[in-house]
Amino acid sequence: MTRAFNFSAGPATLPEPVLKQAAAEMLDWHGSGQSVMEMSHRGKDFMGIRNQAEADLRELLAIPANYKVLFLQGGATLQFEMIPINLLRGKPAADYVYTGVWAGKAIREARPFCQVKVIASSEDRNFSYAPPQSSWKPNQDAAYVHYTANETIGGVEYHWIPDTGNVPLVCDMSSNILSKPVDVSKYGLIYAGAQKNIGPAGLAIVIVRDDLIGHAVPTPPTMLDYKIHADHDSMFNTPPTYGIYIAGLVFQWLKQQGGLAVMEQKNIEKAKLLYGFLDQSRFFRNLVKKQDRSRMNIPFTLKDEALNEEFLKQARARGLQQLKGHSSVGGMRASIYNAMPLAGVKTLVNYMQEFEARFG
Ligand code: PMP
Repeated sequence: MTRAFNFSAGPATLPEPVLKQAAAEMLDWHGSGQSVMEMSHRGKDFMGIRNQAEADLRELLAIPANYKVLFLQGGATLQFEMIPINLLRGKPAADYVYTGVWAGKAIREARPFCQVKVIASSEDRNFSYAPPQSSWKPNQDAAYVHYTANETIGGVEYHWIPDTGNVPLVCDMSSNILSKPVDVSKYGLIYAGAQKNIGPAGLAIVIVRDDLIGHAVPTPPTMLDYKIHADHDSMFNTPPTYGIYIAGLVFQWLKQQGGLAVMEQKNIEKAKLLYGFLDQSRFFRNLVKKQDRSRMNIPFTLKDEALNEEFLKQARARGLQQLKGHSSVGGMRASIYNAMPLAGVKTLVNYMQEFEARFG
C-alpha cells in the first residue's frame, strides 16, 4: 500500500493514524459487535462518541461555556442561509466583507433575507489580500458582520481577528479552523464544513453564542433554526454519525499532537517552506499579498502555462496528487491542512525545484 501526498482542497487528506484506527474499528467498535455506522444515534455508545467529540473540540478551541457546539449537515453552504435566517433578529441589514469566491457565495445567499452591505472588498486587486479593518465601513443597522477567515480558492487568510464592538462577528472558518488557536469569545458565530481540517464531508460545525440562539425569522423551516438543533443537542433528526465519529478521532489526534499552538507552529513551518521556495523561484509564483497569505491553501502559477499538464502528470507519478488549481483561477494549488505532513511539502518543493531546473 502506498499513500499519496494528497494536496486536495477538500475533501482533503486525513491523519493516517485516524484512518488506521477507523479501519481497525470498522467491523467491531470497542466490543460492541458493530460498526459506528450501524449504531443507533440515540444509543449509549454513539452518545458517548458524540459527547467526547464535543468535549475534545471544546478543549482544543477553549470554547467558553456560553457557546453551543452544533453538529449539522448541509455543509458550510447551508450556513450561508441559516446565518441570516437566525441572526438578523429583526434588523434590516447585515455587513459582509468580500474577499473572493467563498465570501461572494455567502453574500449571494444572504441577499434574499436582508440588505447585504459590502463594507470592504479586495476585488480591486483581484482578491489578493485581506482588506485591513481601517478600510471597513460598518453600518449602524447591521445585525452582524460576516467575513471569510480563509479564502480556500484565492489563498488569502486573515492573520488577525476583526473587532466589531457589540455587533456580532460571524466567521466562515471552513478552511482554517483548528489550524491555530483562536479566541472564540471574539465571535458571535463560527462555522465550518468538515472536509478540510475536521473530517469527512457531510458534517458542518457551528459554534454559536447562546444569546444569538432563538431569534430566527418567524416560522423558520424547522431544520434551519439553530434553537431546534441546540435544544436537541444536534439530535433533532439523525445526525451524520460516522462523520462525527471520525471528527472525534481527528480531535483526539490533534490533542496528541499537542493541541492547536503546536499545530500552528507546524503549519507555519510548512507554509514557510513552500512560500520561501516560490519567492526565490523565477518560474513559479504566488500573487497574494505577503502578510495575508494562507497557511492552508497555496495557489501558484507556472511561468509557462503550456507546461501545466506536464507538471501535474509528473507530480502524480511521484505520488503528489490533486495539485490542479480551482477551475476559476487556473494554475496550481497546494492545500496543506493539519494532516499534510512536512515530508509532503518537502517532496513537493524538491519536485518543483527539479521541474524548474529542467523546464525553467
Ligand atoms: N466556505 C469555504 C471557505 C469553503 O472552502 C467551502 C468549500 N470549499 C465552503 C464554504 C462550502 O462548503 P460546503 O461545500 O461544505 O458547503
